[in-house]
Amino acid sequence: MISRTHDLAAITALGVVLFLAPPESLTLATVLVAILANQIGGIAPDIDQPTAPFWRNLPIGGVVGRIIGRMLGGHRFITHSLLGLALFGWLAHLLLITLQPIMSSIDINIVWIAFMIGMISHLIMDSFTKEGVPWLLPIPIKFGLPPIRRLRITTGKSIENFIILPGLLLFNCWFYAIHYSQLLTLIHG
Ligand SMILES: [Zn+2]
Repeated sequence: MISRTHDLAAITALGVVLFLAPPESLTLATVLVAILANQIGGIAPDIDQPTAPFWRNLPIGGVVGRIIGRMLGGHRFITHSLLGLALFGWLAHLLLITLQPIMSSIDINIVWIAFMIGMISHLIMDSFTKEGVPWLLPIPIKFGLPPIRRLRITTGKSIENFIILPGLLLFNCWFYAIHYSQLLTLIHG
């Protein structure tokens, strides 16, 4: 999947989880940082790809991206697995605990969950592509949805651009339109 689709899928998953399992209290500051964390989580697995926008936007990103990509075992390897999820989740938790003293009005647990929702949405979305995802590394098998490879989509091609991306956009418009007042009551202060 291209990063635009991942961004949109991550925020869609965050909105749906927020609605299905609303937290007891939620500050506006937490919402904003959680959205940022969610978007970072949504593209984090592609840190293993030198051509990812994440690296393209840095001055020497291409070189650094290639080195990091190789260290992580190449594209769609450890960062696209349950092991990678656990590793990134642990690192994100460490970072948030370190930053907590300067973010007193922010609930870092919610920010962490938002990051993880972004990452999980990335792996689920990539599972719909022909390449599949090695969910169970070190078992080197790539899984996909549906299991028959021929029925899956090709990254960046018409099904993604003309069906999945607009579909996610329309879903968000519909979802926030019908749940707007409920979602608004979740935010306090
Ligand atoms: Zn990916």
